[in-house]
Amino acid sequence: MVSWSEGSSSSDGYSVTSEAPAPATIFCSEWTGLAPDLEARCEHQCVCEKFVCFESVDSGRRYLACAQKEIPKCKFVEWIDPEWPATLKMSLARVWGMYDDENKLRISENLHLAEENLRVVREKEKMDKELRFFKLDFAKMVADKEQAITELGNARLVVSDLKQELEKKKLSDKSSTSIHKFVRAKAEKERDEMKQQMDSMKEQMDNMKEELDKVVSQRDDLKK
Ligand SMILES: [Zn+2]
Repeated sequence: MVSWSEGSSSSDGYSVTSEAPAPATIFCSEWTGLAPDLEARCEHQCVCEKFVCFESVDSGRRYLACAQKEIPKCKFVEWIDPEWPATLKMSLARVWGMYDDENKLRISENLHLAEENLRVVREKEKMDKELRFFKLDFAKMVADKEQAITELGNARLVVSDLKQELEKKKLSDKSSTSIHKFVRAKAEKERDEMKQQMDSMKEQMDNMKEELDKVVSQRDDLKK
């Protein structure tokens, strides 16, 4: 808060050259622009500009100050209005005090909000990090799954190949069994034929033996 120690009054008002810059202002259409008709001249010896103070207990007081725009302003101030009565100053001090309190509260709230934002940002960073790890894990899981699927596919191909081989072998066994059966039947037939032939030969031999026995018997009878 700027403290104004006013110097001796000039013919027009209360001029002072402060170490501080001119007080804050509020626009007022009734007191604005240059004041060439007034005697006051700033430290640049130039025509002054009209302002209305909007700061602390001097709020609403009109003053003249440096009008320079291109070069740094000097700190000349000449008040047009006298200091406000004590009651008004007290009221203004109270209003500005409330405004300051409100500002402090807002700053405190903003600080709290900033801390909360920081916490949220850190939480988000943590979650992003976890998400990155999760994505990596998930990618690895997908890769493992794909690998497993490929291996399963290969295993299925092998099983399919084995099944085909087995089918071929079964067919081959079946045909060889047929051949075997055929050969066996043929051999059995031949054996039966041979047996029949042998039986026939045996019968003939028996017959011949019987004939021979007859002949021998007849010869013995003749000898008697
Ligand atoms: Zn000036």
